[in-house]
Amino acid sequence: MGKYPASGGRAESKTPWGKEPGDGAGDASRDRPERKGPVRTCVACREQAGKAELIRFVRRPDGSVVVDASGRQPGRGAYLHAAPACLELARKRRALDRALGAPVPPEVWSQIER
Ligand SMILES: [Zn+2]
Repeated sequence: MGKYPASGGRAESKTPWGKEPGDGAGDASRDRPERKGPVRTCVACREQAGKAELIRFVRRPDGSVVVDASGRQPGRGAYLHAAPACLELARKRRALDRALGAPVPPEVWSQIER
């Protein structure tokens, strides 16, 4: 037997006093970027990023350009996002060549395009 409760009101609990103005006062966690450590600029898009997001290229003292996976090679360094868009952009505009002051050989590009 269907016996419904005769209370026609819906169970909407609206409490006009529910919002207390002092509730959000201690909100210290603002939109703060959680970036620690050194920030580098991508030579393609010119945006800054942490080293973990970037590939480092180095022009070694002998003038050759290599991908520096360790991040510790001596020489002049330049950074690029590990993103296809930035790799493509840097390659087309020769941004990396200019930043390093040396031509980036095709082997280097093929290394990172995997
Ligand atoms: Zn970039």
